[in-house]
Amino acid sequence: MNILVTGGAGYIGSHVVKELLKRNYHVVTLDNLSKGHREAVTGGVFVQGDCGDAALVKELVREHGISAVVHLAADSLVGESMTRPDKYCQNNLGNGINFLTALAEAGVRRFILSSTAAVYGEPEYTPIDEAHPAQPVNVYGGTKLMLEQILRWYERAYGLRYVSLRYFNAAGADPGGRIGEDHDPETHLIPLVMQAALGQRDKIVIYGTDYPTPDGTCVRDYIHVSDLAVAHILALEALRDGGPSAVYNLGNERGHSVREVVETARRVTGVDFVVEEGPRREGDPAVLVAGSGRIQRDLGWRPRYGELEEIVRTAWEWHRGHPRGYGG
Ligand code: UDP
Repeated sequence: MNILVTGGAGYIGSHVVKELLKRNYHVVTLDNLSKGHREAVTGGVFVQGDCGDAALVKELVREHGISAVVHLAADSLVGESMTRPDKYCQNNLGNGINFLTALAEAGVRRFILSSTAAVYGEPEYTPIDEAHPAQPVNVYGGTKLMLEQILRWYERAYGLRYVSLRYFNAAGADPGGRIGEDHDPETHLIPLVMQAALGQRDKIVIYGTDYPTPDGTCVRDYIHVSDLAVAHILALEALRDGGPSAVYNLGNERGHSVREVVETARRVTGVDFVVEEGPRREGDPAVLVAGSGRIQRDLGWRPRYGELEEIVRTAWEWHRGHPRGYGG
């Protein structure tokens, strides 16, 4: 299979590209570099452009004999999506539909979608399995759910089979230390904590200590980005071998509180950075933990870096080696 990866210069995309290259797939990365980093793409062909550019997409499919796609290109900030629904609908949905249509016309029949736990909204129970109602409470999750629904119709009409991967909290970095997480602005807990340990922030603020959880702070399911990346390859290979369309959660099935993350980071880095308690952040459910049994059963996926300590350690190696991210 020759594979087109959109958003392959981003945090998760660059790890997917690296795993594909390791297995000798021919990889074409398409990224407009609005958020991604050229340096994050460790091999294959790189093309700077928009996935919504139908002519470009068809040209790439023809030129490189593309038979499968991993689609990660999207805007993904929950807070921003609430104030700029126009931007999220236009980019994630508008460009996503143009992209899908170009692929259908070009004869591509295998599609992996980067989706999110945000499709579920406020959990009615945990761990959250794929049968949990999908009622997103933010625009970002809404756009991903709509794309999943559109894929069902495209499958019927054009025979395009798909796997949608609903990520929980992606974290950590490739153990080689060459690629990692570099967002601007940074909003995610683990990289923020790494910046605090490097002395680049004077403190970490815990968003809410009055949640109905054992220590009062939010509980999340952190999954190592390389484990996520491997799941994309298993999904591609399942489609290649004639497997059906499917939706899978990707998490470790284990919850860690914000305090636990902070304490783990203090231990791993050996830095006693300042931690402050602040008010809740809007839109944060108390507990998000995945039930990932379906992908384990169907595709044999197993997390390699299941321990929070390992996730934080690989994040620390990247941040220590790249204190200014790719720009440094
Ligand atoms: N969080 C926090 N302080 C920060 C950033 C995040 O307490 O500076 C909390 C946040 O409220 C959530 C958890 O850490 O409960 C993980 O947040 P993140 O933004 O990393 O991922 P999300 O769960 O929003 O996808």
